[in-house]
Amino acid sequence: MQQTIRKIVIVGGGSAGWMAAAALAKTLGESLDIHLIESEEIGIVGVGEATIPPILKYNDLLGIDEATFVRETNATYKLGIEFVDWRAKGHSYFHPFGHSGREIESFPFHHYWLADWRRRGGEYDYTQFNLETVAAYKGRFGYLPAEGDKPGLNYAFQFDAVLYAKFLRNYSAERGVTRHEGRIVSVEQHPESGFVTAVVTADGRRLEGDLFIDCSGFRGLLIEGTLNCGYEDWSRWLPMNSAVAVPCERVADITPYTRATAREAGWTWRIPLQHRTGNGYVFSDQFLSVEDAKTRLLGCLDGAPLAEPRLLKFVTGHRKRVWDKNVVALGLASGFLEPLESTAIHLVQSGITRLLAFFPKTGIVPSVVAQYNRDVLFDYNNIKDFLIAHYKISERDDTPFWRWVQAMEMPDSLKERLDMFRETALLIAREPELFRETSWLAVMMGQGLLPKTSHPIVETIEAADLRLHMSRWRKMLESRADSLPGHEDYVRRFAPSADLKMRMASAG
Ligand SMILES: Cc1cc2nc3c(=O)[nH]c(=O)nc-3n(C[C@H](O)[C@H](O)[C@H](O)COP(=O)(O)OP(=O)(O)OC[C@H]3O[C@@H](n4cnc5c(N)ncnc54)[C@H](O)[C@@H]3O)c2cc1C
Repeated sequence: MQQTIRKIVIVGGGSAGWMAAAALAKTLGESLDIHLIESEEIGIVGVGEATIPPILKYNDLLGIDEATFVRETNATYKLGIEFVDWRAKGHSYFHPFGHSGREIESFPFHHYWLADWRRRGGEYDYTQFNLETVAAYKGRFGYLPAEGDKPGLNYAFQFDAVLYAKFLRNYSAERGVTRHEGRIVSVEQHPESGFVTAVVTADGRRLEGDLFIDCSGFRGLLIEGTLNCGYEDWSRWLPMNSAVAVPCERVADITPYTRATAREAGWTWRIPLQHRTGNGYVFSDQFLSVEDAKTRLLGCLDGAPLAEPRLLKFVTGHRKRVWDKNVVALGLASGFLEPLESTAIHLVQSGITRLLAFFPKTGIVPSVVAQYNRDVLFDYNNIKDFLIAHYKISERDDTPFWRWVQAMEMPDSLKERLDMFRETALLIAREPELFRETSWLAVMMGQGLLPKTSHPIVETIEAADLRLHMSRWRKMLESRADSLPGHEDYVRRFAPSADLKMRMASAG
């Protein structure tokens, strides 16, 4: 429909709503009238706490000062995810945010590592050739850019999701976004086009707009409730449909990584923040009752619980269209993939980036809408395969859940990727895929999928030369990691939150 977009209405004030408001205000605020409506009575999910490195680009777009951001959201730094008991009980591996090793003559490092490891045998140490892994296990963190051949330290944040929404709300208010409090009870549509024209609150207020951004959470108030876009259900591959979440007291130094531990019917997360640790058990209720999940979660906390465990229910998948007519859905309103690789906030960010790139200033053009839908659903599909790989490659078969996962079918796209790697050690994961070679290799090899062969080119290299190269690289990583301060010290010095300062003061 050819109608100039002047007034935007964002429905929902969780992370998605405020991320959209802040980015639109910063980039197009001069030409747009931006409104956000949220309901305190309904509240927000408030559990998205772990992120991945592209969030730095979002912060750059907003021009946010990193120390202020870390302080205000009680954040810590994250170098990757430690996966415990996924391949087999008692085994763990690290999925880091940076490359392992270095290409030699433009040839991927993992081929060299495989050739070397086959000859020497012993410890299975692929990600020990990665700086983030070495620093994470030493508990170290600092700003460390790349220097020539030497890698820099890649990172993201772990933060308090409620404080994050508040932080962005203040940011948006300062840039002219108008906030409305109220519960939307009905939605008005144009009688011919079906475009949404206004939302109406319980106390009778009408809020009109040209473009509506649905950030109303799982309910998808406009995208589903009004436009009935339909939902693609992926439970046949990712059967998790529940989570219980509980914060606990922090007891030790804060680790610069998230931990995901495989359990009898799913997995638990542990996310250390400055003032507390976030925990949750993501599970399938076909295999575990909610009461049992709560008991198991409370039994694996490393500090006293700070609240009652909270239950969240979801269906893995996505809306069949995430942009329809003049409604764009972001966040949980657009779909949900379990938080195993911390991708939900990233999907909000990439949705916003695309919306800005495709912004329909002079009206909604169907070909633009179609392209947006294709691009977003490509991301969903790619992440879905990556998540399924964590379950399918495992050797675990010790509970009904793990046996069910072992027996389930895989999507063809994943099957092809795994087959190619197993048979030839070749791995293709290129832009615009979110998870590239580094991530796939860490997870596939960490979960125990080893190729039958390495590339013939590397087989011709002398064993001693290869060994020397490997040990030099390891030594360089060790010394780079040792040059960094401890993570806790870094946070205390660089960006202590008010909570951490109080804790430091009371500890003397
Ligand atoms: C168990 C779990 C763990 C997660 N962990 C992570 C993680 O580690 N990393 C990560 O990136 N993501 C994670 N996520 C996802 C993350 O929490 C969400 O992507 C993020 O919080 C965005 O939520 P949202 O803003 O879409 O929805 P919500 O937080 O649900 O916000 C919805 C908003 O809509 C408003 N609203 C709804 N209906 C109405 C109405 N009728 N009238 C007015 N307002 C209304 C509500 O008041 C609220 O403001 C996790 C999610 C879950 C469920």
